[in-house]
Amino acid sequence: MSFNIAIDGPAGAGKSTIARLAAKELSFIYVDTGAMYRAIALGLLRNSIDIDNEAALLSALDLIEVGIRYVDGEQHVYLNGEDVSLLIRTEEVSDMTSRSSAKPQVRSKLTALQRDLAARENVLMDGRDIGTEILPDADLKIYLTASVRTRAKRRYLEQADKDGACTLEEIEQDIRERDYRDMHRETAPLRQADDAVLIDSSDMSVEEVVSEILRLVSLKENA
Ligand code: C5P
Repeated sequence: MSFNIAIDGPAGAGKSTIARLAAKELSFIYVDTGAMYRAIALGLLRNSIDIDNEAALLSALDLIEVGIRYVDGEQHVYLNGEDVSLLIRTEEVSDMTSRSSAKPQVRSKLTALQRDLAARENVLMDGRDIGTEILPDADLKIYLTASVRTRAKRRYLEQADKDGACTLEEIEQDIRERDYRDMHRETAPLRQADDAVLIDSSDMSVEEVVSEILRLVSLKENA
């Protein structure tokens, strides 16, 4: 039997950095489900699909195949066989991902892939609906969040030295919009599972959050 950890939370709470480090410490496989949604969004953008046109969306999804593979322990995501791991990190893709992931047709395409991985391996899986929908029986569920200001500041510092950088206010506005969309969509909205442990990382370092997760895992393992 595999041991599964679900980490959910809003954009910019530090989930992927923390999940990657914790998975390494535990020798678990880190599954970044956001990357899978991003790969689909890239496929939709490349084909200029109007996602509100159901027939167009369905036929586009039929032609989109998402896969993941691990190279030196790092997750790579593939769109129809092409490694798109770096191409999916643009603002344009982030925005399309947040809109297209609200569509049930998009979500159902990834459910089986995510559940299969968790059934076969010890995984630490991060996303928005892992503890609530994908792995309702996960051994440990964590809801990782931080204030909007803190999340915006983190993202601001990450991109401040890049071309076309946004202001702190623009980033804060974008985070609020993405939170709203993720939390208010009809299918699999972002919410804390009843049995998830809440960690607010606003005043915690990455190391502190990782050690808290490791502590929670050892409590579960010894229970
Ligand atoms: O985690 P990341 O920021 O890469 O996710 C991008 C977007 O993908 C999120 O804003 C959310 O809309 C969507 N997503 C989702 N369900 C998941 C993971 C991500 O809807 N399990």
